[in-house]
Amino acid sequence: MWDNHVHIENGPYTIEWLNEFIEVAKNRRLDGIGITEHAYRFKQTRDLIFTDGFRGEWIVQRQIEDIDEYIDLIEEAKRLGLPVKLGTEMDYIPEREKEIKDFLTDYHFDYVIGSIHWLGDFGIDLDAKYWDKKNIDDVYDEYYSTMFKLIKSGIADVIGHIDLVKIFGFRPKTDLADIYTSLAKEIKRAGISVEVSTAGLRKPVKEIYPSPEILKILKGEGVNLVLSSDAHDPQFVGYMFDEAESCIKEC
Ligand SMILES: [Zn+2]
Ligand SMILES: [Zn+2]
Repeated sequence: MWDNHVHIENGPYTIEWLNEFIEVAKNRRLDGIGITEHAYRFKQTRDLIFTDGFRGEWIVQRQIEDIDEYIDLIEEAKRLGLPVKLGTEMDYIPEREKEIKDFLTDYHFDYVIGSIHWLGDFGIDLDAKYWDKKNIDDVYDEYYSTMFKLIKSGIADVIGHIDLVKIFGFRPKTDLADIYTSLAKEIKRAGISVEVSTAGLRKPVKEIYPSPEILKILKGEGVNLVLSSDAHDPQFVGYMFDEAESCIKEC
């Protein structure tokens, strides 16, 4: 069993720091961890995500890493026999699909998590205050129509936190069961996986991603699932995986 979604960005790109994550993984009886640094952190991804608006402003302060250092670290870890994979969590921005694909051709990852954190310049998971003037149903609509494009784009091996849009507990008035079923069918057809992420349990919504409702639909369509913590700190590697497993079984 692996934790397939781990960020080491809060520390240096060193074997010592990486080992802190691996230690926790071992203590929690995991076989390994997939390191999936946010692609936007790397200076080489400017064209993939930058805007003149708020998104650009937010990204510019955080786009400070060099991807070659990251890749060198994970390759070195593999040479040392450490149980890691080289992944990335890619922001899906529909109008930057070409730039994203070029980047993924230039750098070879073991796998790519495709995630939607941005709808234009609106960062859906940044702060509840940015939702103030939003129509919740419209946001859900845009989020899931973007999700269909992400699936179709072929950039993702795994869909990250498929219902991240619920993060602050804002729920749509309309029933989205039909949309979830179509999504599940498209995901199955595309041959990609969906992560069951315990990160949602640490967020205001206090619910696993995906919700039991979506999980049942995914299972019904035979979609492949992988386990993830989305840890940004060693203590959260494999966080509440027992809960995730029983949730999957119940669904
Ligand atoms: Zn994410
Ligand atoms: Zn993440």
